Amino acid sequence: MSNKVNLTDVEGVDVVFGSNVFSDAVMKERLPKQIYKALKKTIDEGAPLDPNVAEVVANALKDWAIEKGATHFTHWFQPMTGLTAEKHDAFISPTSDGRVILGFSGKELIKGEPDASSFPSGGLRATFEARGYTAWDVTSPAFLKEKSLYIPTVFVSYTGEVLDKKTPLLRSVEVLSKQALRVLRAFGNNTTKKVIATVGPEQEYFLVDKELYEQRRDLILTGRTLFGAPSPKGQELEDQYFGTIKERVADFMQELDIELWKLGVSSKTKHNEVAPAQYEIAPVFNDVNVGTDHNQLVMETLKKVALHHGLVALIHEKPYAGVNGSGKHNNWSMSTNDGENLLEPGETPQSNAQFLVFLAAIVKAVDVYADLLRVSAANPGNDHRLGANEAPPAIISIFLGDQLTEILEKLAKGGKVGAKNGGELKLGASTLPVLPKDNTDRNRTSPFAFTGNKFEFRMVGSSQSVAGPNFVLNTIVAEVLSEIAGQLEGKKDVNAEAQKIVQKIAKDHGRVIFNGNNYTDEWVQTAEKRGLLNIRSTVESVPVLTAKKNVQLFEKHGILTKTELEARAEIVLENYIKTINIEALTALEMAKRQILPAGIAFATEVAQSINSVKATGVKAVTGAQEELLKEVSDTLASLKKNINALEKVQAKAENLHGDTYKQALFYKDSVFTAVNALRAAADKLETVVDKDLWPLPTYADLLFNL
Ligand code: ADP
Ligand code: MG
Repeated sequence: MSNKVNLTDVEGVDVVFGSNVFSDAVMKERLPKQIYKALKKTIDEGAPLDPNVAEVVANALKDWAIEKGATHFTHWFQPMTGLTAEKHDAFISPTSDGRVILGFSGKELIKGEPDASSFPSGGLRATFEARGYTAWDVTSPAFLKEKSLYIPTVFVSYTGEVLDKKTPLLRSVEVLSKQALRVLRAFGNNTTKKVIATVGPEQEYFLVDKELYEQRRDLILTGRTLFGAPSPKGQELEDQYFGTIKERVADFMQELDIELWKLGVSSKTKHNEVAPAQYEIAPVFNDVNVGTDHNQLVMETLKKVALHHGLVALIHEKPYAGVNGSGKHNNWSMSTNDGENLLEPGETPQSNAQFLVFLAAIVKAVDVYADLLRVSAANPGNDHRLGANEAPPAIISIFLGDQLTEILEKLAKGGKVGAKNGGELKLGASTLPVLPKDNTDRNRTSPFAFTGNKFEFRMVGSSQSVAGPNFVLNTIVAEVLSEIAGQLEGKKDVNAEAQKIVQKIAKDHGRVIFNGNNYTDEWVQTAEKRGLLNIRSTVESVPVLTAKKNVQLFEKHGILTKTELEARAEIVLENYIKTINIEALTALEMAKRQILPAGIAFATEVAQSINSVKATGVKAVTGAQEELLKEVSDTLASLKKNINALEKVQAKAENLHGDTYKQALFYKDSVFTAVNALRAAADKLETVVDKDLWPLPTYADLLFNL
């Protein structure tokens, strides 16, 4: 490939990094001092934005963008599709005397009015009011991409209902900060101004050769293979994980890094994953809002840059059956504006008391709202991973490591703890055993693992926006912190009260802690005994969104209303139905027009061979051909039978109107299973038919061809 980019050819990392971002440094340099200060106040403290400030900022943004070659600007938003959306406008505005000037007003910066009718709304947006508007999110910096200035925004309906993924996230950030601050204040901290949720999402993906990709309708239309017999070699040799990266892939990664660095995304590590042709990219963590935007940019950039190298990046959760799927490890923590990570075990007894309170808050939140975390990671692609035959079960549990678990367990029993002085653990007074900074033997099977100074929520699907999981996390933790703050505030002996709180949580919610292997059947049974939820599919997880306790939670904290939650539930179901329907139609098309004909062609060849041999008059045995012909014919018959069956249920499913939940359930129980049955027959046929006649690149071609 001639697309090789060398950093040394271009510029140094320091020059490249953030060069396309209207960053704090750029703002400082380009904005008048007063304006910069006012804008910072809005960014940092949420102070209302003065229209005059917006006017000046808009002008500076425009000048900066045009100097860098931009011609257009766009409000960049994240509708409920989980993708990003943009509508580009030229900077040009006509003047009264027929000329054009390059303009961009404060009003255009603050507010946009894209047509909302083409985005999912779950019935929120009445058809007569198709308009929606986007509003500038000052807390995520604007950036340049392909000659356009991108302005991160939120997206709401004209009557104010939330239509996007970012609004609840931004609200949850504030709610978490408020409640965490109350707890800090109770512990005597009077200086911290803000608590910031942080996220570092590790993104997994597959790469596939573009020419092969283009020969697969399933990959093109559904993002995953609907057919494909297992490759003779799979991932069993484990020779891919951290193996040497092939040159084409290395070139791709280098260009990817540079493109991301320009956008201010500090992609840091990258390595081969367990499965063949699978890779991972992880940026250095950020505040959760910027981190979420960055993850969207990572996914978009992955796809774009891959094409430059004759590759296609597959972000789907399960591109290949029988091969590890892709997830997104959502590393999450809370930190103060002065840089203290609240999930970092402290050195002093005092700071450890505070640490244990925050830790306990999360334990309780995850136990009480496990259902919400589960639904936040639900999508049709992830159904192939969570609760399916491989990979982690769909049960939410927490890995804390032995030491922390022991501390909580002993606290729960009110007994002695392995405190350094050997006595009873007294929060705020005794010294905890030194907690390991890095749990190197950390449990990789846990869906929610404490990894030394952060939690890693590992259920999230590779194609999902991390906005959902994080607004859930922020909100549920904020809720428990608010309860805790209520108990701590005004207490003379805060540590004694904290002790009681942690003790009670350990007792009541310790069931959610599990340090063992989550992949075993035994755990599924134990979890059931402990009363932990095991929601196996997206469809079954949807009612969680409108469960009373959850509606109350989101309404109490002003994150989403009942109506908005109902709309979201509807959107998840609609998306599920559409996805499975597309998969069914694609499978049918491929089976009928590619796979069945290939099988018939082969059967004909074999039959002709039998005839030809017989026609020679030589007394020859055609037993092998006849046996083969029978096998092919039987498999063809089974394939045809499964085509018919799928056609029938698909038609029925499509016409099941009225109750979206029931329709989605039917798609899951009947259509999805019929697609799988059809696949089984086709995959069997693949193992029998002449390779030269097989119309699709095989798993071996797709997985070992980079
Ligand atoms: P592993 O693959 O072992 O899980 P990585 O080093 O690949 O670990 O990824 C860890 C991720 O966690 C990185 O994206 C990192 O930036 C992120 N991270 C580290 N500290 C924090 C934190 N305090 N808050 C959120 N994310 C964090
Ligand atoms: Mg990880």
